[in-house]
Amino acid sequence: MIKSNNVSCFLFLMTLFILLTGCATPTTKRVEVSDVAAEIEAEKQREIAFEAALHDKFRLVDTAYSVFVKSVPLCGEKTAYSIGTLVANKYMISEEMRTAAYAVSGITNVLKIIHVMRGSAAELVGIVDGDIPLSLNDWAIPTGENAGQEYLKKLEESTRNGEGISLRILRDGAETLFEITPDKTCDYTIVLSTQDIVNAYADGKNVIITRGMMRFTESDTELALVVSHELAHNVMNHMDAKTRNVVLGSVLDIVAAVLGVNTGGTFGNLGARAYSKEFEAEADYVGLYMMALSDLDFETAPHFWRRMAALHPGNIKKNHASTHPATPERFVALEKTVQEIKQKLLNGTPLEPEMKNDSDEE
Ligand SMILES: [Zn+2]
Repeated sequence: MIKSNNVSCFLFLMTLFILLTGCATPTTKRVEVSDVAAEIEAEKQREIAFEAALHDKFRLVDTAYSVFVKSVPLCGEKTAYSIGTLVANKYMISEEMRTAAYAVSGITNVLKIIHVMRGSAAELVGIVDGDIPLSLNDWAIPTGENAGQEYLKKLEESTRNGEGISLRILRDGAETLFEITPDKTCDYTIVLSTQDIVNAYADGKNVIITRGMMRFTESDTELALVVSHELAHNVMNHMDAKTRNVVLGSVLDIVAAVLGVNTGGTFGNLGARAYSKEFEAEADYVGLYMMALSDLDFETAPHFWRRMAALHPGNIKKNHASTHPATPERFVALEKTVQEIKQKLLNGTPLEPEMKNDSDEE
């Protein structure tokens, strides 16, 4: 091998007529590593990765859960019921990670509650991480590959109208029956994206937070700010309206093209831009009300978004594909909203965002 490498190295040099003293190769002795040792190390790294991913996931769902529940008054018809648990069995884990999942969380072929959300209905009645659900009402929880999906489907059906359920739990060899009244929650899904960039999105159905954003937020309150802002985009139907605006813009493009003016798609872009600046301001505004409803420190918002704008200006822009509200303007608006909410708390008036009057419309 060494010989042929040297030959190809030589030929390569000859072909290119480059005068060099030789191909660069390491000159110290290579440390021999056995395949077994390498595999043990790889498994250790998978365990670290799995544990870190779970940590981020639990932090995100704990933070989002209370915001989603407390923001119900702002979510209109888009509500659902949840008991606030995450379940898993090995079939819900990629094959490569199953050994790590067992080592870190004892995840086997039996369906298990791996996390109880902070402040949830399940936590309230005393369900804890590691509990094994045996039956839901009178339905025995199955084992095997589809157990997870079947359980979640049954749970969704059983709580659809807010009905209470009874969950028989196995813990330390003993069985206990828990009666749970589910929490009413905004009907959107919180998703942890594995991307390392600092970003968050709302697509009308989901609130997606990247692991980069998780690291950027210095506290759960800051994370809740991002969740609230994105949830507000969904609740205010910005996705639908934005799509409509783009379509509207494109129609202008077509009209211009017919008239012989090539706009290069400018109108389409303008359509999306002109509105998303308004949408950003609205997501900030409604998001702060969600924070206040969740009893979270909404006064940290201006500082957080200021730090975000200063350290990741590109992300904010790319994230919402828009001209973001001019930084000073955005902070003044946030500060004003903080004062508005504080006044309402002081006066004991309901925490409802102020809606536009027809007379406000120019
Ligand atoms: Zn936004």
